[in-house]
Amino acid sequence: MSFSSLGLLEPLVRAAGQYAAPTPVQVAAIPAVLAGGDVLATAQTGSGKTTAFVLPLLQRWLGAGAERRRPLHTLILVPTRELAAQVREVVQQFSLHLPVRLKVVSAVGGVSINPQMMALRGGADFIVATPGRLLDLVDSNAVKLAGVSALVLDEADRMLDLGFADELKRILAMLPSHRQNLLFSATFPPAVESIALTLLHHPARIEILPEEGAAEPPRIEQRAICVDTAKRTPLLRHLIATHRWKRVLVFVAKQYTADHVAEKLRRNGIRAMAFHGELSQGARTQVLSDFKSASTQVLVATDLAARGLNIVQLPAVVNYELPRSATDYTHRIGRTGRAGAAGVAVSFVTAAANAHFCLIEKRQGLTIPREEVPGFEPTEPAPEPTPGTGGIKGRRKSKKDKLREAAARERRTSEQ
Ligand code: AMP
Repeated sequence: MSFSSLGLLEPLVRAAGQYAAPTPVQVAAIPAVLAGGDVLATAQTGSGKTTAFVLPLLQRWLGAGAERRRPLHTLILVPTRELAAQVREVVQQFSLHLPVRLKVVSAVGGVSINPQMMALRGGADFIVATPGRLLDLVDSNAVKLAGVSALVLDEADRMLDLGFADELKRILAMLPSHRQNLLFSATFPPAVESIALTLLHHPARIEILPEEGAAEPPRIEQRAICVDTAKRTPLLRHLIATHRWKRVLVFVAKQYTADHVAEKLRRNGIRAMAFHGELSQGARTQVLSDFKSASTQVLVATDLAARGLNIVQLPAVVNYELPRSATDYTHRIGRTGRAGAAGVAVSFVTAAANAHFCLIEKRQGLTIPREEVPGFEPTEPAPEPTPGTGGIKGRRKSKKDKLREAAARERRTSEQ
């Protein structure tokens, strides 16, 4: 299969020339997007989804004619600023092959709004935005959404969940009702999928699942290591040294833990940095770019880094603390093993977290054998549930614990 057989015009085939052949999601999505209809696409992390919507959208933009391109032809919404920068870069790179100059602007928070307002003078052909900043720009009359022909929700299940619901509702109300809607993600929990379907008109449903029983080994080797809470950082250092990981992404649950673990690694001579939402945008960009250029070896991050980020040659992801849901697990481990490369995802399973990990395994439909690493064998006893509370013995639940549990329950229900 070649890119030209998918209906792409010559400049776009040339734009895709860096790739030998389209990936399965590209084979399915490119003709569907070119046909102009709505699309709901699920495909594994790292399987080339960005290219699957950017190439055909550029062709549709080209075919729209000069007068219909601006003030804004295509709106791409993403959940994080870093992902916006990444998608904008893909649009920009591919567009260089077009006979007409395309203007793509990224609209994200955390940085001054003025340069974005300036950039939007005279309109833009494509905007890649996070919802909050897009609304700020709309409120300042810097951009109008009434002419949008195509809307993309990248990491669509995240865009449709409660965190973005109000902002998305406001944005959707400003878009013309006649438009093309494209929803892409690696995960679509059923409850979110039903919301998604209310947005779409007779969508082409594309679902690229890893082939069961395929001859190829899975791209991402998943491992689970039992370890005591206090031994996690020494174990992490041991794994980095024994596997000679040149680059590793370590996930934790809280910003404080990210700072703390990164600091402990640095004290042991490992080039480690923390990455989370409390950092200034300048620091976020710098930290990520140092990690991508390999001047930082270990990035200790919250789930801010879990969605969409494409870090080439990332051999390993470590869940130092487990993610809240099976969906988050999928996205976290999907930072490795991208574009067909191999990768390993290691989860640290403490005695207290084992029950939660079993739940993640169940939702994933797999069983990951528990391992012990010599020198780091766990000694902590498993916590006994207190009858009636479901909590951990000897510890009363704080208000925060209760809120957290309620949020976890809500997430779980939304994933059933
Ligand atoms: P994405 O899932 O869009 O983030 O893409 C993941 C990675 O796959 C990126 O590094 C892309 O450059 C790469 N990629 C996209 N399309 C192809 C293709 N047809 N062949 C090989 N690699 C690709």
